[in-house]
Amino acid sequence: MNLKDIITSFKTSRGYTRIIPRAALFDMDGTLYDSMPGHAYAWMKMCDEAGLQATPDDFFMAEGRTGADTIEMLFRRNYGRSATADDVERLYAIKSANFRALPPVQLMPGAQEAVGACMNAGLTTVLVTGSGQSSLIERLATDYPGAFSLKVSSRDVRHGKPRPEPYIRAMQMAAVEPWEAIVVENAPLGVQSGVAAGVFTIGVATGLPPQVLAEAGADVVFTSMPECAAAMPQLLEALRNA
Ligand code: CA
Repeated sequence: MNLKDIITSFKTSRGYTRIIPRAALFDMDGTLYDSMPGHAYAWMKMCDEAGLQATPDDFFMAEGRTGADTIEMLFRRNYGRSATADDVERLYAIKSANFRALPPVQLMPGAQEAVGACMNAGLTTVLVTGSGQSSLIERLATDYPGAFSLKVSSRDVRHGKPRPEPYIRAMQMAAVEPWEAIVVENAPLGVQSGVAAGVFTIGVATGLPPQVLAEAGADVVFTSMPECAAAMPQLLEALRNA
């Protein structure tokens, strides 16, 4: 399908009469920052030490879940039982220490350009992250000047991704409706969250195969942030003209 048909089918299936992009809702880990390989490494190192079987892809797929949910998944799979609160606390502390010991996280190449393209088109840009990682959130003002005065983090929602609440909250902050927003996400659970919130959802395959994001329901999928950034002006124009 070409872009025009994709947008028409999105509009029809949602019952929207028009789309007027006013806000771009950006995920953080794996979208604005190249932090996912570090997280996967920190999880794998903890698993090796604790004798839990896992693969790095498990953590790319679980991205967006809380640490407690991820540890629960590992226990169910390895031991066929739930993790206790003590297990969660102890193992998550190890994972967090492993992550903190790594060099500083790098910007995702192309992400500044993608955010800039949205700002140039007059959109309000909003951060929507499941992370409570203050070190990265604090870097946003420097790395993305003027972009993310509005932020939704794990502290602002009761039900995180894949539930729609984080994106609904972001739209309330920006005072826009679902037909006035776009979502940019790199992970299947994040894509599901954007789709469930009724927003045109752009998947960017920065870690997993593009197919995984398409299967999660992404309306369009790009293979990298530079590709997303290059396509953004045309995409916003096509949405506006649909
Ligand atoms: Ca992400």
